[in-house]
Amino acid sequence: MVTVSDWLESSTNRLNSAGITSARLDSLILLEHILHATRETLLARGEFELSKDQITDLQALLERRVKLEPIAYLVGHKDFYGVDFIVDRNVLVPRPETEKLVEHIIDNSPMHSRVLDVGTGSGIIAISLKKNRNDLGVSASDVSKEALSVARKNASKHETFIGFIQSDLFKQIKPLKQFDIIAANLPYVSLDNISAHPELKHEPAIALFPDDRRGLSIYESFFRDVRRYISDNGYIIVEHDPSQLEEMLKLGKIAKYNGSSVSPFITKFSPIQTHKVNIN
Ligand code: GLN
Repeated sequence: MVTVSDWLESSTNRLNSAGITSARLDSLILLEHILHATRETLLARGEFELSKDQITDLQALLERRVKLEPIAYLVGHKDFYGVDFIVDRNVLVPRPETEKLVEHIIDNSPMHSRVLDVGTGSGIIAISLKKNRNDLGVSASDVSKEALSVARKNASKHETFIGFIQSDLFKQIKPLKQFDIIAANLPYVSLDNISAHPELKHEPAIALFPDDRRGLSIYESFFRDVRRYISDNGYIIVEHDPSQLEEMLKLGKIAKYNGSSVSPFITKFSPIQTHKVNIN
Protein backbone atom coordinates (compact mmCIF):
# COMPACT_ATOMS: atom_id res chain seq x y z
CA MET A 1 0.00 0.00 0.00
CA VAL A 2 1.23 3.51 -0.93
CA THR A 3 -0.17 6.55 0.85
CA VAL A 4 -0.11 10.21 -0.20
CA SER A 5 2.72 10.86 2.29
CA ASP A 6 4.71 7.87 1.02
CA TRP A 7 4.44 9.02 -2.58
CA LEU A 8 5.19 12.64 -1.68
CA GLU A 9 8.35 11.57 0.08
CA SER A 10 9.63 9.22 -2.60
CA SER A 11 8.80 11.62 -5.44
CA THR A 12 10.50 14.49 -3.62
CA ASN A 13 13.63 12.36 -3.19
CA ARG A 14 13.60 11.30 -6.83
CA LEU A 15 13.26 14.90 -8.09
CA ASN A 16 15.87 16.15 -5.63
CA SER A 17 18.36 13.62 -6.87
CA ALA A 18 17.60 14.75 -10.44
CA GLY A 19 18.73 18.23 -9.32
CA ILE A 20 15.25 19.80 -9.33
CA THR A 21 15.14 22.38 -6.56
CA SER A 22 11.34 22.64 -6.47
CA ALA A 23 11.09 18.89 -5.80
CA ARG A 24 8.49 18.90 -3.02
CA LEU A 25 6.35 21.63 -4.55
CA ASP A 26 6.36 19.86 -7.91
CA SER A 27 5.37 16.58 -6.25
CA LEU A 28 2.47 18.32 -4.52
CA ILE A 29 1.32 19.88 -7.81
CA LEU A 30 1.31 16.44 -9.46
CA LEU A 31 -0.68 14.98 -6.57
CA GLU A 32 -3.20 17.83 -6.75
CA HIS A 33 -3.59 17.24 -10.46
CA ILE A 34 -4.07 13.48 -10.38
CA LEU A 35 -6.18 13.32 -7.22
CA HIS A 36 -8.21 16.47 -7.99
CA ALA A 37 -7.51 17.54 -4.43
CA THR A 38 -6.40 20.79 -2.86
CA ARG A 39 -3.01 21.08 -1.24
CA GLU A 40 -4.63 21.50 2.18
CA THR A 41 -6.52 18.23 1.79
CA LEU A 42 -3.41 16.39 0.65
CA LEU A 43 -1.38 17.64 3.57
CA ALA A 44 -4.14 16.95 6.07
CA ARG A 45 -4.86 13.45 4.69
CA GLY A 46 -1.38 12.06 4.20
CA GLU A 47 -2.59 8.59 5.21
CA PHE A 48 -4.97 8.46 2.19
CA GLU A 49 -4.22 5.37 0.14
CA LEU A 50 -3.44 5.78 -3.57
CA SER A 51 -5.09 3.48 -6.11
CA LYS A 52 -3.04 1.51 -8.63
CA ASP A 53 -4.18 3.78 -11.48
CA GLN A 54 -3.31 6.89 -9.54
CA ILE A 55 0.17 5.58 -8.86
CA THR A 56 0.67 4.68 -12.53
CA ASP A 57 -0.43 8.16 -13.64
CA LEU A 58 1.69 9.88 -11.02
CA GLN A 59 4.78 7.87 -11.93
CA ALA A 60 4.36 8.69 -15.63
CA LEU A 61 4.26 12.42 -14.87
CA LEU A 62 7.13 12.12 -12.42
CA GLU A 63 9.37 10.52 -15.06
CA ARG A 64 8.58 13.37 -17.48
CA ARG A 65 9.45 15.89 -14.77
CA VAL A 66 12.74 14.08 -14.11
CA LYS A 67 13.56 14.81 -17.76
CA LEU A 68 12.99 18.51 -16.94
CA GLU A 69 9.69 18.93 -18.74
CA PRO A 70 8.05 22.02 -17.21
CA ILE A 71 5.46 21.20 -14.58
CA ALA A 72 3.00 23.51 -16.39
CA TYR A 73 2.94 21.17 -19.42
CA LEU A 74 2.39 18.15 -17.20
CA VAL A 75 -0.70 19.64 -15.59
CA GLY A 76 -1.82 21.81 -18.55
CA HIS A 77 -2.05 25.16 -16.85
CA LYS A 78 -0.07 27.91 -15.13
CA ASP A 79 -0.87 30.92 -13.00
CA PHE A 80 0.03 34.33 -14.43
CA TYR A 81 -0.86 37.70 -12.90
CA GLY A 82 -3.25 35.99 -10.50
CA VAL A 83 -5.27 33.98 -13.01
CA ASP A 84 -4.99 30.48 -14.37
CA PHE A 85 -4.01 30.04 -18.04
CA ILE A 86 -4.23 26.93 -20.20
CA VAL A 87 -0.82 26.01 -21.63
CA ASP A 88 0.49 23.24 -23.85
CA ARG A 89 3.68 22.51 -25.76
CA ASN A 90 2.78 24.99 -28.49
CA VAL A 91 3.28 27.94 -26.18
CA LEU A 92 5.93 29.22 -23.85
CA VAL A 93 5.27 28.65 -20.16
CA PRO A 94 4.29 32.06 -18.69
CA ARG A 95 7.17 33.61 -16.72
CA PRO A 96 6.89 35.87 -13.68
CA GLU A 97 9.13 38.51 -15.32
CA THR A 98 6.43 39.15 -17.91
CA GLU A 99 4.04 40.17 -15.12
CA LYS A 100 6.11 43.33 -14.73
CA LEU A 101 5.46 44.30 -18.31
CA VAL A 102 1.72 43.75 -17.85
CA GLU A 103 1.70 45.74 -14.63
CA HIS A 104 3.53 48.61 -16.27
CA ILE A 105 0.94 48.87 -19.03
CA ILE A 106 -1.97 48.60 -16.59
CA ASP A 107 -0.53 51.48 -14.55
CA ASN A 108 0.63 53.67 -17.42
CA SER A 109 -1.96 53.64 -20.16
CA PRO A 110 -4.41 56.43 -20.92
CA MET A 111 -8.07 55.39 -20.95
CA HIS A 112 -9.27 53.62 -24.09
CA SER A 113 -5.76 53.07 -25.47
CA ARG A 114 -5.57 50.62 -28.33
CA VAL A 115 -3.04 47.90 -27.58
CA LEU A 116 -1.39 45.30 -29.77
CA ASP A 117 0.37 42.29 -28.21
CA VAL A 118 2.74 40.97 -30.88
CA GLY A 119 3.68 37.29 -30.47
CA THR A 120 1.01 36.66 -27.88
CA GLY A 121 1.65 32.92 -27.38
CA SER A 122 -0.88 31.68 -24.84
CA GLY A 123 -2.38 35.18 -24.75
CA ILE A 124 -1.21 36.07 -21.24
CA ILE A 125 -0.28 39.71 -21.93
CA ALA A 126 -3.37 40.58 -23.96
CA ILE A 127 -5.81 38.79 -21.66
CA SER A 128 -4.33 40.10 -18.40
CA LEU A 129 -4.52 43.63 -19.78
CA LYS A 130 -8.14 43.31 -20.84
CA LYS A 131 -9.12 41.65 -17.57
CA ASN A 132 -7.62 44.45 -15.51
CA ARG A 133 -8.33 47.36 -17.84
CA ASN A 134 -11.60 46.70 -19.62
CA ASP A 135 -11.45 50.18 -21.22
CA LEU A 136 -8.49 49.13 -23.40
CA GLY A 137 -9.03 47.86 -26.92
CA VAL A 138 -6.78 44.83 -27.14
CA SER A 139 -5.55 42.98 -30.23
CA ALA A 140 -3.06 40.14 -30.31
CA SER A 141 -1.09 38.39 -33.01
CA ASP A 142 1.04 35.30 -33.34
CA VAL A 143 2.71 33.53 -36.24
CA SER A 144 1.69 30.14 -34.83
CA LYS A 145 -1.81 28.87 -35.50
CA GLU A 146 -1.44 26.38 -32.66
CA ALA A 147 -0.45 29.11 -30.21
CA LEU A 148 -3.41 31.24 -31.28
CA SER A 149 -5.74 28.37 -30.62
CA VAL A 150 -4.45 28.20 -27.01
CA ALA A 151 -4.77 32.00 -26.73
CA ARG A 152 -8.39 31.85 -27.96
CA LYS A 153 -9.23 29.18 -25.39
CA ASN A 154 -7.75 31.38 -22.67
CA ALA A 155 -9.66 34.45 -23.86
CA SER A 156 -12.94 32.59 -23.72
CA LYS A 157 -12.08 30.94 -20.40
CA HIS A 158 -11.58 34.43 -18.96
CA GLU A 159 -14.47 35.99 -20.90
CA THR A 160 -12.34 38.68 -22.44
CA PHE A 161 -12.77 40.06 -25.93
CA ILE A 162 -9.47 40.19 -27.81
CA GLY A 163 -9.07 40.70 -31.57
CA PHE A 164 -6.78 37.85 -32.66
CA ILE A 165 -4.89 37.71 -35.93
CA GLN A 166 -2.42 35.17 -37.30
CA SER A 167 0.55 37.14 -38.50
CA ASP A 168 4.31 36.89 -38.74
CA LEU A 169 5.13 40.06 -36.78
CA PHE A 170 3.19 42.82 -38.58
CA LYS A 171 2.82 41.16 -41.99
CA GLN A 172 -0.96 40.65 -41.92
CA ILE A 173 -1.73 43.89 -40.08
CA LYS A 174 -2.62 47.10 -41.92
CA PRO A 175 0.01 49.84 -41.42
CA LEU A 176 -2.37 52.53 -40.18
CA LYS A 177 -0.53 53.75 -37.06
CA GLN A 178 -3.56 52.48 -35.24
CA PHE A 179 -2.06 51.30 -31.90
CA ASP A 180 -1.29 53.49 -28.89
CA ILE A 181 0.71 50.77 -27.20
CA ILE A 182 2.60 47.92 -28.81
CA ALA A 183 3.79 45.26 -26.39
CA ALA A 184 5.98 42.32 -27.27
CA ASN A 185 7.67 39.40 -25.62
CA LEU A 186 9.36 38.09 -28.74
CA PRO A 187 12.01 35.37 -28.85
CA TYR A 188 15.31 36.77 -27.56
CA VAL A 189 17.23 33.88 -26.03
CA SER A 190 20.61 33.24 -27.63
CA LEU A 191 20.98 29.66 -28.84
CA ASP A 192 24.28 29.59 -26.97
CA ASN A 193 22.26 29.48 -23.75
CA ILE A 194 20.60 26.15 -24.39
CA SER A 195 23.38 24.13 -22.78
CA ALA A 196 23.14 26.24 -19.62
CA HIS A 197 19.34 25.82 -19.59
CA PRO A 198 18.49 22.26 -20.66
CA GLU A 199 14.90 22.72 -19.44
CA LEU A 200 14.26 25.12 -22.34
CA LYS A 201 14.44 22.27 -24.84
CA HIS A 202 10.88 21.26 -23.96
CA GLU A 203 9.42 24.63 -24.95
CA PRO A 204 8.74 25.68 -28.55
CA ALA A 205 12.00 26.86 -30.11
CA ILE A 206 9.99 29.27 -32.26
CA ALA A 207 8.98 31.14 -29.08
CA LEU A 208 12.47 31.38 -27.59
CA PHE A 209 15.29 31.42 -30.10
CA PRO A 210 15.92 33.83 -32.96
CA ASP A 211 18.24 32.48 -35.64
CA ASP A 212 21.20 34.69 -34.77
CA ARG A 213 23.77 34.19 -32.01
CA ARG A 214 22.92 37.45 -30.24
CA GLY A 215 19.23 36.69 -29.95
CA LEU A 216 18.28 39.97 -31.63
CA SER A 217 17.16 39.22 -35.17
CA ILE A 218 13.43 39.10 -34.46
CA TYR A 219 13.49 42.36 -32.53
CA GLU A 220 15.45 43.88 -35.42
CA SER A 221 12.59 43.05 -37.79
CA PHE A 222 10.04 44.24 -35.24
CA PHE A 223 11.71 47.63 -34.80
CA ARG A 224 12.22 48.01 -38.54
CA ASP A 225 8.45 47.99 -39.11
CA VAL A 226 6.90 49.16 -35.86
CA ARG A 227 6.61 52.86 -36.66
CA ARG A 228 4.01 52.18 -39.31
CA TYR A 229 1.72 50.69 -36.67
CA ILE A 230 2.27 52.85 -33.59
CA SER A 231 0.29 56.08 -33.16
CA ASP A 232 2.21 59.35 -32.86
CA ASN A 233 1.99 59.54 -29.07
CA GLY A 234 2.14 55.83 -28.49
CA TYR A 235 4.75 53.76 -26.74
CA ILE A 236 6.45 50.46 -27.32
CA ILE A 237 7.27 48.09 -24.53
CA VAL A 238 9.26 44.93 -24.99
CA GLU A 239 10.68 42.17 -22.85
CA HIS A 240 14.31 41.31 -23.50
CA ASP A 241 17.39 40.09 -21.73
CA PRO A 242 19.16 42.71 -19.57
CA SER A 243 22.37 42.15 -21.52
CA GLN A 244 20.59 43.34 -24.68
CA LEU A 245 19.67 46.79 -23.37
CA GLU A 246 22.15 48.83 -25.42
CA GLU A 247 21.15 47.02 -28.60
CA MET A 248 17.46 47.53 -27.85
CA LEU A 249 17.97 51.23 -27.31
CA LYS A 250 19.78 51.43 -30.63
CA LEU A 251 16.98 49.58 -32.38
CA GLY A 252 14.51 51.98 -30.77
CA LYS A 253 16.39 54.94 -32.18
CA ILE A 254 16.53 53.37 -35.59
CA ALA A 255 12.75 52.84 -35.43
CA LYS A 256 12.28 56.65 -35.52
CA TYR A 257 8.55 56.60 -35.34
CA ASN A 258 6.90 59.97 -35.08
CA GLY A 259 6.56 59.89 -31.32
CA SER A 260 9.55 60.29 -29.11
CA SER A 261 9.78 57.34 -26.84
CA VAL A 262 10.56 53.71 -26.88
CA SER A 263 10.44 51.85 -23.61
CA PRO A 264 12.48 48.71 -23.68
CA PHE A 265 11.81 46.70 -20.64
CA ILE A 266 14.40 44.89 -18.60
CA THR A 267 13.44 41.53 -17.26
CA LYS A 268 14.92 38.59 -15.42
CA PHE A 269 13.83 39.93 -12.08
CA SER A 270 15.82 43.14 -12.22
CA PRO A 271 13.94 46.22 -11.04
CA ILE A 272 11.53 47.74 -13.53
CA GLN A 273 13.31 50.18 -15.77
CA THR A 274 11.89 51.95 -18.76
CA HIS A 275 13.93 54.02 -21.12
CA LYS A 276 12.79 56.89 -23.18
CA VAL A 277 14.67 57.26 -26.40
CA ASN A 278 14.62 60.73 -27.83
CA ILE A 279 15.03 60.45 -31.52
CA ASN A 280 15.05 64.13 -32.38
N1 GLN B 1 11.93 34.98 -20.35
C1 GLN B 1 12.15 33.78 -21.09
C2 GLN B 1 13.37 33.04 -20.55
O1 GLN B 1 14.24 33.64 -20.05
C3 GLN B 1 12.38 34.06 -22.57
C4 GLN B 1 11.19 34.56 -23.27
C5 GLN B 1 11.46 34.99 -24.68
O2 GLN B 1 12.37 34.55 -25.38
N2 GLN B 1 10.67 35.86 -25.12
O3 GLN B 1 13.45 31.85 -20.65
